[in-house]
Amino acid sequence: VFADIEGAPAIEVFKLIGDYNEDTFDKKVNLGVGAYRTDEGKPWVLPVVKTVEAMMAGDAGLNHEYLPISGLPDYRTACQKLLLGSESPAIQSSRVESFQACGGTGAIRLAADFLKRLMNYDCVYVSKPTWGNHKTIFKRSGFSDVREYRYWHPETKSLDFQGMLEDLNNAPERSVVILHGVAHNPTGVDPTKDQWVEIIKTCQAKNIFILVDIAYQGFATGDLDADAHLPRYLDRNNIEFMAAQSFSKNFGLYNERTGNLVVVCANSELKAKIRSQMELIIRVTWSNPPNHGARIVTTVLNNPANCAEWKEHIKEMASRIKQMRQMLHAKLKALGTPGNWDHIIQQIGMFSFTGLSPKQVEMMINKYHIYLLKEGGRINMCALTTSNIDYVAKSIHSVVTE
Ligand code: PLP
Repeated sequence: VFADIEGAPAIEVFKLIGDYNEDTFDKKVNLGVGAYRTDEGKPWVLPVVKTVEAMMAGDAGLNHEYLPISGLPDYRTACQKLLLGSESPAIQSSRVESFQACGGTGAIRLAADFLKRLMNYDCVYVSKPTWGNHKTIFKRSGFSDVREYRYWHPETKSLDFQGMLEDLNNAPERSVVILHGVAHNPTGVDPTKDQWVEIIKTCQAKNIFILVDIAYQGFATGDLDADAHLPRYLDRNNIEFMAAQSFSKNFGLYNERTGNLVVVCANSELKAKIRSQMELIIRVTWSNPPNHGARIVTTVLNNPANCAEWKEHIKEMASRIKQMRQMLHAKLKALGTPGNWDHIIQQIGMFSFTGLSPKQVEMMINKYHIYLLKEGGRINMCALTTSNIDYVAKSIHSVVTE
């Protein structure tokens, strides 16, 4: 009965990990991975997460009963506050609802299903380029019109601001747009505050619904409040929107599937209706969410000492990333690698579009055993370490000059 099934194409980032694992070269480097790494090249379980896990292990009151369909109530409110701030007009006027989700991915899927089924949206705009899952999630949710807005300008290696505005200006009425909340994946390029004003103005003028995808809060500046500029700007300007939060990166809870979908609506009466419909979608999707990651996040966000420690971890991760940017930039300059590499230090967050061509990327992989994504030559800055950065810089120099 399965004879007619055709194999699907490999998912690039996972294929890269497989190829890297099989590679026996001793200096191999995986710059493609989408997770934080220490300077020893190891995953980091945040110390505050370990502390809370130890507390949870000793808590005889915890059990494995199902959570409510919408998730842990304290988690949902803590996530809202982290996103919108304690001064949030929407929270103060009781216009925010949220739903614990299986990672940021689950939150985006929930948003897409809701926007399609309940609100009849059919056209979505994603940045060109964007995180690989955006288009597919919306297609699977039934969106028949998935479009791209210009974002990365390959020549200037920066934001194509005019292109972005133009494309959004040409959007059909009642489109949805996904805006990366902070630290754009994969380019590492964010609009400035002034540019956000223009972008939001355009969305408002064209009646475009905004879904903020925020998977890297804290990774751009090391400051959680500063990195929440976009959702807080929308809130202050009385705009209805959704935001998909992920705690995979900033809590290092990748496999615990810890996300949240926030809905900011026009009045508190709408909340119950939205909630009842969203719960129907959740019921047939994952029925109810997992406990472990959400319990950790809730404990940390609601305990001032734990939260202060977590903020230090965020600063440490953000500053290691910045340091790697500066080191790589300095090394390429010292080697005299042709071209301008300033974008490496101008970009923010975990990722950088190096601008290496697909052919150069192929050489990096095949000749130097350094694994990175083809599009834009995306690298994860924290996969660089003080031990491998010389080798990586020299290899980039070689592929650019060969
Ligand atoms: N959105 C963006 C832009 C991402 O880069 C990622 C993960 O890489 C996600 C969402 C999804 O995160 P999660 O692993 O929590 O599903």
